[in-house]
Amino acid sequence: MNSPATAPHPTSLRSATDAAAGRSPGRTQERPHPPNGRGISTRPLDHAADFPAIPEGWSYLDTAATAQKPIAVIESIARGYSENYATVHRGVYQRSSEMTLAFEAARRRVAGFIGAPSPDEIIFVRGATEGINLVAQSWGGANLKPGDRIMLSVLEHHSNIVPWQLVAERTGAEIDVAPLTGDGRIDLDAMAAMLTGRHRIVALAHVSNVLGSVLDAERAAELAHSVGALLLLDGCQAVPRMPVDVAALGCDFYVFSGHKLYGPTGIGVFWARQELLEAMPPWQGGGAMIDRVSFEGTTYAPPPARFEAGTPHVVGVLGLQAAVEYVESIGLDAIGAHEAALVREARDALSTINSLRLFGPEDSAGIVSFALEGVHPHDIGTILDESQVAIRAGHHCAQPLMAHLGVEATARASFGVYNGRGDIEALVRGLDRVKRIFG
Ligand code: PMP
Repeated sequence: MNSPATAPHPTSLRSATDAAAGRSPGRTQERPHPPNGRGISTRPLDHAADFPAIPEGWSYLDTAATAQKPIAVIESIARGYSENYATVHRGVYQRSSEMTLAFEAARRRVAGFIGAPSPDEIIFVRGATEGINLVAQSWGGANLKPGDRIMLSVLEHHSNIVPWQLVAERTGAEIDVAPLTGDGRIDLDAMAAMLTGRHRIVALAHVSNVLGSVLDAERAAELAHSVGALLLLDGCQAVPRMPVDVAALGCDFYVFSGHKLYGPTGIGVFWARQELLEAMPPWQGGGAMIDRVSFEGTTYAPPPARFEAGTPHVVGVLGLQAAVEYVESIGLDAIGAHEAALVREARDALSTINSLRLFGPEDSAGIVSFALEGVHPHDIGTILDESQVAIRAGHHCAQPLMAHLGVEATARASFGVYNGRGDIEALVRGLDRVKRIFG
């Protein structure tokens, strides 16, 4: 990252807004990005200036880990604390009632964003990790028994593996692992052949955080349902880069994290079909999730409150709504097309580098993983950082996938609405330097 001397970082909202409006130095001037050879423009979607924490000259290519925040989100969080802050659901005073209305309006907005038939099906959680643990502990704890089977895939993030291992240990259920195709997609034909009437749940990444491969979610839902299993989709890497409609996909559970969608950390969404939620027991106890409490016995609130024990991340929910409105104002189709063009351009450029191995399918969504023979990905990441290029290097919380690929780690570049051709050029220049250093 640039030093503060060369990279102005707005320290107040006023200066952030000024920066966006071109009133202070910063990343306000659009750099020239001519259309590439296929006639696809990979210049930024004109949104780089919305992001005060991205200084000019710094290429942020780690959006799959967490997205930078646009001013709209930062301001909504600041407003939440500075203008009308109060807790929700319990206050009898006007401020709290207003905050409750705003909080529930955000729930409706999020429901619309993912095509949920009812806002009561939207549960606010800390993130995808908490959402999957909720399903595993609550639904899994109540429904899995010895002999039952859980279907995962080789490319899952640890947060879609370990919660299932925990509940399998508790219930006696067992885990199966669907293999991948040669180009790094979940092999649904192979999975179809493995599925049996003993499978109760299939839990798969909608988009892989390492390979960017996109699941044929409708087919996965059909396959799961054909044996009487439910389908959970881990939508962490899907919601920031493609329109998602849970009803149209036909899945039963969907989770995602706000921070990968340009929203705040500490807030995410768990969606489930209403009848599944109604039948699920609470997984955490506390305030807000009860109907009546007594030492003789406690009764629980209906969903969504049943699954939201304790004071929620009130302002995080407002920030999440702002993030949803931000991506919708650009359009998920436009974001997807922009990132697809960047991926094509990056893959074309990287494939000309000697001894560079590209992972994942050609049409991956916003994510390009690679390795350079003889150079540890951590060294790639460190040297690129010296060139103001931020990528991720490591196992990406997907160690079984690393084992499958036969590597300890990969380097990963992932894109967002602020990236453009200039960032890919910076990446390629940085990799040239890596190659020179390592001879
Ligand atoms: N699933 C996928 C596919 C992810 O990319 C991530 C984050 N890297 C997670 C789950 C976990 O998300 P969080 O840490 O925000 O809960």
